[in-house]
Amino acid sequence: MNPDALLFLFKDAILDKHRIRIVETVMTHLPIIIVHGGAGNWKDDRIPVGVEHVQNAAKSGFQALAEGGSAIDAAETCTMYMESCGGLNAGKGARPNQDGLLELDAMIVDGKNLQFGSVAAIIGIQNPISLARYIMEKTEYNFFAGENAKRVYEMMIKEGFRKEIEKGVVKAPKISPAGDTVGCVVVDEEGNIAATSSTGGISKKLPGRVGDSPIMGSGAYANETCGATATGYGEHIMRVVLSRMTVLYVEEGLDTQSAAQKGIDMFQNKTGSEAGIIVADKNGHFGFATNAKAMPTAIIQQKLSNLVTHTCLK
Ligand code: ASP
Repeated sequence: MNPDALLFLFKDAILDKHRIRIVETVMTHLPIIIVHGGAGNWKDDRIPVGVEHVQNAAKSGFQALAEGGSAIDAAETCTMYMESCGGLNAGKGARPNQDGLLELDAMIVDGKNLQFGSVAAIIGIQNPISLARYIMEKTEYNFFAGENAKRVYEMMIKEGFRKEIEKGVVKAPKISPAGDTVGCVVVDEEGNIAATSSTGGISKKLPGRVGDSPIMGSGAYANETCGATATGYGEHIMRVVLSRMTVLYVEEGLDTQSAAQKGIDMFQNKTGSEAGIIVADKNGHFGFATNAKAMPTAIIQQKLSNLVTHTCLK
């Protein structure tokens, strides 16, 4: 055999070995769930409470995956936990608007087909994330708001898509919640990506105000490559379409942690405001960053016991 051909074969063998190694690495990262409990000016003594909530939320989402659920199933389960725990700014524990009512926004995104469901400014329900999923999967629309979104909720209950866990709490809770907006990104064993966000919005908002959380690309985004979800001042996050931009950085070749940091740096440069972002890609790489005081974050990768939490300080 001529030496050139030998060299060619040798190179090919190295390449193949390399390929095998890449495949192995890819497989060892999935599934993954990354969860945040909101970026903001957390009181020091409330941070551990927030960390505990995101831990439990991540566990409940991961459990859904372990039981054979999809990324969307896990993302809904995880977000429902945070809406129902009463200790974060979503669902039952949401911050009230100026009328003292919990007026909620939420979104779920399915990266596999670029589908999403959103609900905004809804009053009187506890788990807007399930309604967002119903809108995405069972209606021909993507986004409902206000009183008429409540009619869609009633349709959902009537059809038995979800049971009403408990009538939505419409009055402000006596103790203000520890945390902020919630969200998660889930990548299942097949590499399908889902992202969510759910919130009561910013403190003392005027009734009817809607932030970034239910806005596709701003509050959350996912496609076949990567998913992200954001938290912080919605008025500013919407201006830079933070979640979509962060996913784009990954598509352009940045690793997930650098993309999260670049997203927050870009956000700060353009708006001077505060936000946080979490990211995960189809191979199970993840990243998170904030320029606010704190953002409790929990990650579970591959198996339930691989739980890691970060307060993610700026
Ligand atoms: N992004 C949410 C909003 O503006 C608030 C938050 O993340 O804390 O409604």
